[in-house]
Amino acid sequence: MFHSSYIEISRSALQNNINVIKQEIGPGVQFSSVIKGNAYGHGIEQFATLAQECGVDHFSVFSADEALRLQQSLPKPATTLIMGYIDDPELEWAIRHDIEFFVFEPDRLVQAASIAKKLGKKAKIHLELETGMNRTGFDSATIAHAIRVLDDTKEHVSLKAVCTHFAGAESFQNHERIQIQQQQFRKLSELLINSGHSPEKLHSACSAAMVSYPETHMDMVRIGIMQYGFWPSPETYSHFFSQRTIKKDPLRRLINWKSRIMSIKHIQKGEYVGYGSSYQTPRNMTLGIIPVGYGWGYSRTLSNQGQVLIRGVRAAVVGIVNMNVMMVDVTDIPGVQKDDEAVLLGTQGNESITVASFAELSTQLNYELLTRLPSNIPRLVID
Ligand SMILES: *Cc1c(COP(=O)(O)O)cnc(C)c1O
Repeated sequence: MFHSSYIEISRSALQNNINVIKQEIGPGVQFSSVIKGNAYGHGIEQFATLAQECGVDHFSVFSADEALRLQQSLPKPATTLIMGYIDDPELEWAIRHDIEFFVFEPDRLVQAASIAKKLGKKAKIHLELETGMNRTGFDSATIAHAIRVLDDTKEHVSLKAVCTHFAGAESFQNHERIQIQQQQFRKLSELLINSGHSPEKLHSACSAAMVSYPETHMDMVRIGIMQYGFWPSPETYSHFFSQRTIKKDPLRRLINWKSRIMSIKHIQKGEYVGYGSSYQTPRNMTLGIIPVGYGWGYSRTLSNQGQVLIRGVRAAVVGIVNMNVMMVDVTDIPGVQKDDEAVLLGTQGNESITVASFAELSTQLNYELLTRLPSNIPRLVID
């Protein structure tokens, strides 16, 4: 093993989660697998290939570079949708390769149409509507302009969809705002349809909206966090169960982040561990040295807080997490030795370190913690 840690991705867990999502949306609604942010830290190449094997045929990314990585790694063709950034030169590449993309500005529409004309192809666009998130999209003031441009470019543009994104569907605090967004979406999309345009699909839902606002499913859902086995928020989790008799979490996490003990050290009571004096041994102790630190995405805020699993037992992080190394207390783990596996995230025996607890400790959201897992940690697919 050339690397000091590696990340396992479970195929059976992904298949399970995809089944849960498909059951949630029913037949006839397209499931788009959102793999921005390096597939939420799981690795675009490994994750997308696996997802395709599990039956996924539609992927959403943020930017053209992610779309390129996807295209280069997928064994079979799949629909690819860029939801965010495309630089001008890349727009031609996208159209040439039948990649679909969000259009949220008139300029992008005009440009796409002219490139499509030049290539003798149609630009496959998803017209994004601004419904209240105040980020990107056409709103009630600019929709008329978008419609005129669409009228003029009809020949070179295929209107694959009209879509929007919700501003925080995972929190009930935003309930009112989400309702208003839905109304606004209906209003703007009807305007467009009544003026003679026929989008193939309407879509708006992310994971939280899929669970909490079933009326937002329409023709397609764009699902990120839940396919990886995590809930968007505790509120979404409780909402899910409020509708059902089962009480067991149906999702399974794909990710296991593992390292091993690089060295063992015995020290006397009263010594300080690592840099500074944040940890003083309350007794004679055995420490396991783990070759992972904040430089590898193990947050420094887990200093004296985090836990890892060794021989199925929780071992506490003691002292400050260093750039490449951290120390854990293995005093009470019988038979512990150098090269023992250490699970930083995931399951070992009957114990698990969940991202949720981990994220609470390091005051990061699931989303943030996952996407910050460095892309150069190897990802391995397991069953
Ligand atoms: C990230 C993202 C999603 C997926 O969100 P999850 O909460 O991870 O399901 C859907 N739509 C857009 C536009 C996004 O940026």
